[in-house]
Amino acid sequence: MGTPPVGSSPQAAIVTVGDELLLGDTVDTNAAWLGRYLAGLGIPVARRFTVGDVREHIQVAVSAATDVADLVLVSGGLGPTPDDITREAVAGLLGLATREDPELVEALRARFRAFGIGEFPESNRAQAMVPDGARVLDNPRGSAPGLAMTRGDTLIVLLPGVPRELRSIMEGSFRAALGDWLPRSLDPVGMRTLHTTGIAESVLSERVANHLAGYTGPVTMAFLPDLRGVDIRLTVTGLPPEDAERSLDEAERLLSPAVDRWRFISEGGDLGEAVIAELERLGLDLAVAESCTGGLIQKRLTDLPGASRVFMGGVVAYADSVKAGLLGVPADLVGTHGAVSQEVALAMARGVRDRLGTRAGIGITGVAGPGGGSEEKPVGTVWYAAVADGRHVVTMGLFPGDREAVRERAAQAAMAQLFRLLRSPEE
Ligand code: AMP
Ligand code: MG
Repeated sequence: MGTPPVGSSPQAAIVTVGDELLLGDTVDTNAAWLGRYLAGLGIPVARRFTVGDVREHIQVAVSAATDVADLVLVSGGLGPTPDDITREAVAGLLGLATREDPELVEALRARFRAFGIGEFPESNRAQAMVPDGARVLDNPRGSAPGLAMTRGDTLIVLLPGVPRELRSIMEGSFRAALGDWLPRSLDPVGMRTLHTTGIAESVLSERVANHLAGYTGPVTMAFLPDLRGVDIRLTVTGLPPEDAERSLDEAERLLSPAVDRWRFISEGGDLGEAVIAELERLGLDLAVAESCTGGLIQKRLTDLPGASRVFMGGVVAYADSVKAGLLGVPADLVGTHGAVSQEVALAMARGVRDRLGTRAGIGITGVAGPGGGSEEKPVGTVWYAAVADGRHVVTMGLFPGDREAVRERAAQAAMAQLFRLLRSPEE
């Protein structure tokens, strides 16, 4: 097959290497990430291969990938242990000798020194081996660099298996050098993602279809649901950047009445960012009291750099005695209404706000399952409250799924509720 016809856009193939991927011990997130990343660059992935740490299997897969793609990305097996054989296997396939790169050896030594490991393990020397003619792709996050080489018109790139190392090479040195390598220029791709939460994918897509009936523009749409919400990804290919931007603006404007009620804006796609931004805009600080989510909301907020500007802290109040002792939730409230109730959720939000001296608060209490449900309060029943200055909202959700899904959905819903309270104009 070799090279696709001139003018068609380049295609990629992915080879992921590792016994652990075949055994299911490690989920192959690299292939998924690479697929999305390359799609964003306008290079669709045509084929994927997964093989174990076996020399011949790696060679067969890389060879087959090379036959169908202009760009072959190989992940895994660049480490220092004897099962890491990708470098040798691919060099063998291409008939290339490998040589130790003195600069890489020195960089590895420096890396170990920086970590306080004086003795440089000999096994790590393998990571300084470079096939003849291969280009070294700097790995800012680890010891094994990426390696790029060509076979015919196809570019083959070897990447370490550690996901954050692979990503930093792709986004850094690979991306920077991409223009030099590909024989044809890429169709520019414009993309924009609208984030929503609190609306089901089917309902959202119906609303969108109604608002876009008759739309004949160049923008295509994909719905990407997960436990936290649904992203709408808008894509336009083959247009100059200004025209692409204009088309995306138009699509976004048309979608606005269909999605704005559920939409939040955040660079990284996390609702937490939008919550923090909204608190900052209003000059409010936040405290959180969690029962069934066990700190999930606070974890999510503190995952984000800059959270300290608005998030003061919180309490995981799992037992009723802690709800009473640390949050001042009156015992008779629990006695009368139960720990999973509107009254207790609100008292938790107000209690944590008052105890920590903030102006906004979240309280959440529910039945995450699998046990603990009743006819009146089945598994998935969660009450969550948001308070901000004089205003408050309390909502009951009935969330589907297992324990993890219920907790994830509940945390998101509680954050979304605070976000909407902050956004809604004061009466
Ligand atoms: P390796 O480069 O093969 O030594 O892999 C280093 C680490 O990255 C191991 O912990 C692997 O489990 C992990 N890893 C390797 N390949 C993948 C992949 N395709 N997706 C996610 N993690 C991976
Ligand atoms: Mg491996």
